[in-house]
Amino acid sequence: MSQSKLNQISPHVYWLPPDSTTDRPVLGAVAGERSTLLVDAGNSPAHARSFLAEVARLQVAPPQFLVLTHWHWDHIFGAATIGLPTLAHQETRRRLVEMAGWDWSDAALDERVAAGVEIEFCRDMIKVELPGRTDLVLRPPDIAFTEWVELGLGGVSAQLIHVGGDHAPDSIIVFIPEDRVVFMSDCLAPDLYHPPRRYTIQQLFPLIDQLLQCEADFYLMGHNSEPVSRMELATYTGRLKLIGQLVEHLGNDRTAILAELGRFDADDEEDLDCFLAGLKQV
Ligand SMILES: [Zn+2]
Repeated sequence: MSQSKLNQISPHVYWLPPDSTTDRPVLGAVAGERSTLLVDAGNSPAHARSFLAEVARLQVAPPQFLVLTHWHWDHIFGAATIGLPTLAHQETRRRLVEMAGWDWSDAALDERVAAGVEIEFCRDMIKVELPGRTDLVLRPPDIAFTEWVELGLGGVSAQLIHVGGDHAPDSIIVFIPEDRVVFMSDCLAPDLYHPPRRYTIQQLFPLIDQLLQCEADFYLMGHNSEPVSRMELATYTGRLKLIGQLVEHLGNDRTAILAELGRFDADDEEDLDCFLAGLKQV
């Protein structure tokens, strides 16, 4: 599987794998008979250009719409290069209108990290992906929604569904019911912007239910190099829920929770620490 080549997962759905060296996320294309929808814009003009070049090789209907899954830089910096009518949640639009007026120089980024508006990880990745940023233009979405939108692309549809979650309150998923595929982007990840990383039961549990309510066979996560099957997602989220429930019942007692879990690995401990951080927040 090549990082720079689109992969096909179902009759109408293609995806570009992520690249962790500069935090490039998964990008997607849903190709109908009439038009193609692009899912996320990439983390730079260069990322967007390589995505557009790949889509152009597919011999599918021309891209006519772009959807942004949430406001984080790695999903939106390529939007001006893609230059299509763009849909997103209302909160994504609000934030992008604000961010479009920001200074993106190294000094301004450093200041925002010091002020707690930006985090070190994103600043460092922005500097590697975009060493020169003087001509960076952020393009806010044209069309904003609050709950959901359905796009007919010709023989296939895309449901843009707001799910929120700890990672970003504006997170949406893109569900393609005919192909039983979901682009879930980063919605299942913890909150990274207010360290330490945190999960809250209030946000995470309804989100998990909403993801599994989609009648899908495959889910594409924003930074995973392989799609996950429905079974894999159910197993993973079942474990998350178990850890969350133990935190709910036992409170801030890490030792007792780990004893109750019995067998656990480093990922379980990381998830547990996210829930414990969430507990302190409320
Ligand atoms: Zn994100």
